Amino acid sequence: MAIVGLEWLLILVVNVVCAVLVYRSATHRRMPDSRRMLWTLVALVLGIVGLVLYLLVARDRSRTCPNCGTATEASTKFCPNCGFDLKALRLCMKCGREARLGQKFCDNCGTKLD
Ligand SMILES: [Zn+2]
Ligand SMILES: [Zn+2]
Repeated sequence: MAIVGLEWLLILVVNVVCAVLVYRSATHRRMPDSRRMLWTLVALVLGIVGLVLYLLVARDRSRTCPNCGTATEASTKFCPNCGFDLKALRLCMKCGREARLGQKFCDNCGTKLD
């Protein structure tokens, strides 16, 4: 009985950690509140499966304008708020951080961009 209880406790802890990770990631992505809460709930219920689902579905769906911070769709070419040229951004191969055109090194992990 004690072993079963421990297993459930472990699953609960893992699920809560997954939910926190998703919530923090969604906040960082400036995801709308409704979607952020939905994904946090999914991770809380499904645990690691929910976290993986979030990463697969939420990845590259949205991007944040580096100039004004407005969240836009990944396919957006110009920021709807300030008109920043989002096409000029590239992703770091190592950490996925967006870099501006002309930037030689990733400002997050130092990887050379080419
Ligand atoms: Zn902008
Ligand atoms: Zn990087």
